Amino acid sequence: MDFPQGTGTEKHDECRIFRQGDETRREGGGFMKTTILRIRDVTAQAADIEAAGELLRAGGLVAFPTETVYGLGANGLEASACAGIYQVKGRPSDNPLILHAADRSMVEMAARVVTPLGEKLLAAFAPGPITLILPKRPEVPESVTGGFDTVGVRLPDNDVARALIRAAGVPVAAPSANLSGRPSPTTAAAVAADLSGRVPLILDGGPCRFGLESTIVDCTGDRAVILRPGAITRDMIAAAVGSADLDPALSTPNVPPRAPGMKYVHYAPKVPLTLIMGEKARLAAAFRREVEKRQAAGKAVGLVVSEEIAAALEDIVPPPLTAIYGAQGDLFAMAAHLYEALRYFDDKAVDVLLSEGVVPEGLGLAIMNRLQKASGGRCIEA
Ligand code: AMP
Ligand code: MG
Repeated sequence: MDFPQGTGTEKHDECRIFRQGDETRREGGGFMKTTILRIRDVTAQAADIEAAGELLRAGGLVAFPTETVYGLGANGLEASACAGIYQVKGRPSDNPLILHAADRSMVEMAARVVTPLGEKLLAAFAPGPITLILPKRPEVPESVTGGFDTVGVRLPDNDVARALIRAAGVPVAAPSANLSGRPSPTTAAAVAADLSGRVPLILDGGPCRFGLESTIVDCTGDRAVILRPGAITRDMIAAAVGSADLDPALSTPNVPPRAPGMKYVHYAPKVPLTLIMGEKARLAAAFRREVEKRQAAGKAVGLVVSEEIAAALEDIVPPPLTAIYGAQGDLFAMAAHLYEALRYFDDKAVDVLLSEGVVPEGLGLAIMNRLQKASGGRCIEA
């Protein structure tokens, strides 16, 4: 099991504790009931999906699963509906939303043109965890694109997401369904932890497959430029379109990023997190040293680490204070479990977290991008 301490996918069915209509939270003087609806089969539950699509069309918010993370959806062509997303998340208004399409034809309800670069990337990777930045159609409100004349468009590879967007009949704006700054949700329970009482409906489609947000690629120029790394890696994109540049902001401090969202504090657990990086051979000893130093200062330490590091430190950090993402080097498992691991500590008595870094290549680049933000740049070289 990837998460013996209960931060993994096995936790999923606990979502049932949030029974329909049970969750309320005082909000601006009123109460909103949040319904959490398990979707096991989009065909058998077509009436539920249709009702959720109707709610979106009517200007409401619906949280739903995708293969990356859970999204907080609204009608992407309706400024007032999208204003609800910003309000509920506490999202800065200059941070544009990604529009989600059910199929290729719907991409053109958001993008004025699909550039040749965009066409190639769609052919290679859609549906999947990639967002294309393209010239926007005038129908897309500027408040949704942060005032840009471009729009981010994505075709999610998830049955529930696709069925919902098709039922809505419009591109669905959907940032991650968390409160701004918190780790993105990869289960319906994590969505509920942040948003119950604030949204009318959460569709529960089980845990997300990738667990990290999409790769964002600017397709407006001649060359692909990656604005945010994700599961579709730089090498994969270069193989599909000949080259892939990285936004310089990804590697150089103080350079403003072209995706406005990349400048904000993100993915932060409730206590400070420090990254420990280094060669495998030295890593366990470095963790031991850093743990003991903090414990000697009276701090309760939690770990977000591989099976190997967890086993090596078992004598000084007990299993309930250790979230294991998988075997060392298993980047796919690490990506899939990272945010749940960070959220696992929300209700644990820890003062600090120590987490294991990875080599920033391939999927490791996306993982390190998120971990560096979660750590606020606190990093120790073993
Ligand atoms: P989220 O949906 O929360 O994963 O955030 C969406 C990300 O996409 C943010 O970092 C935005 O700044 C970025 N984004 C959305 N639209 C655009 C755009 N037109 N140009 C550049 N970045 C964008
Ligand atoms: Mg987000």
